[in-house]
Amino acid sequence: MRLSLVVPCYNEAVCVRRFWEAARALALPSEVEFVFVNDGSRDGTLGELRALAAEDPAVRYVSFSRNFGKEAALLAGLRKASGDLVATLDVDLQHPVTLLPEMLGALRSGEYDCAAARRTDREGEPWLRSLCARLFYKLLNRLSEIEVRGGETDYRMMTRQVVEAVLSLGEVNRFTKGIYAWVGFRTKWLDFANAERVAGETKWSFWGLARYGLQGVTAFSVAPLQLASVVGVLSCAAALLYLAYVAAKTLLVGEPVTGYPTQICLLLFFGGFQLFAIGILGTYLAKTYLETKRRPPYLIQEEN
Ligand code: UDP
Ligand code: MG
Repeated sequence: MRLSLVVPCYNEAVCVRRFWEAARALALPSEVEFVFVNDGSRDGTLGELRALAAEDPAVRYVSFSRNFGKEAALLAGLRKASGDLVATLDVDLQHPVTLLPEMLGALRSGEYDCAAARRTDREGEPWLRSLCARLFYKLLNRLSEIEVRGGETDYRMMTRQVVEAVLSLGEVNRFTKGIYAWVGFRTKWLDFANAERVAGETKWSFWGLARYGLQGVTAFSVAPLQLASVVGVLSCAAALLYLAYVAAKTLLVGEPVTGYPTQICLLLFFGGFQLFAIGILGTYLAKTYLETKRRPPYLIQEEN
């Protein structure tokens, strides 16, 4: 039984070799294949990968023509991986390789198709980032049919069957956590404590994460599109009630020239809401537009 380790790398020259050493030191009870994906790094990552591949025949790599993002890198790695079991994990050792034997055991027992790692804490992460992440997953779960657990990471091991299922989803803009939840299968959850990355620094800015979040929601939920209709209906009802009230009041007690502030409030509210609704439409439209182009999610410049 062969195990493929799919590892996305973006400017990780300092981590690549350490990762390989850590994984090799495990002496896993199955043949291991490394599938590194160089996601358009601008440092010496590609050189490191070439050197490793020359030393260890089990090292394979794919190198993109530019940075296409982690999701694209994971996709390329899953496509290239040839193992019966495939694991995806980060190169910075924040996803402890020591969980691999346990994952392997779970899948080999035949009881599970997938083993997924979950962080039990967000130690060492800025509090605003943790808060936003937690709120985001709550919102996503509420709005969509899928369920992504809090602390869920991209650290997983899965059987060939699950890999094929994940690859069968043809979308170009991929939100992998959602895709795993969508395909289903029997998943074993393993907890681990958050670790600091061994070297280098995080590739995610706050706005980068915000975009990732928007991508997740719009990829798996159309609820925001319906929001406009719901609020529209509610506000129509409110407007009718208000109209009845004004009519009754005028008939009963008369109405001097007032109501200017009310008008301004309503104007602002509806103007704002309409722009908001148009923005939501625009987001989905843009997505549809991008998907219909059928652009490849990444371009490979070099591989072995
Ligand atoms: N990564 C990537 N492409 C990107 C950004 C990140 O392949 O555009 C890889 C990165 O090299 C690492 C993993 O994704 O192996 C997680 O990135 P990082 O450690 O920066 O994220 P964090 O752990 O801070 O969430
Ligand atoms: Mg990391």
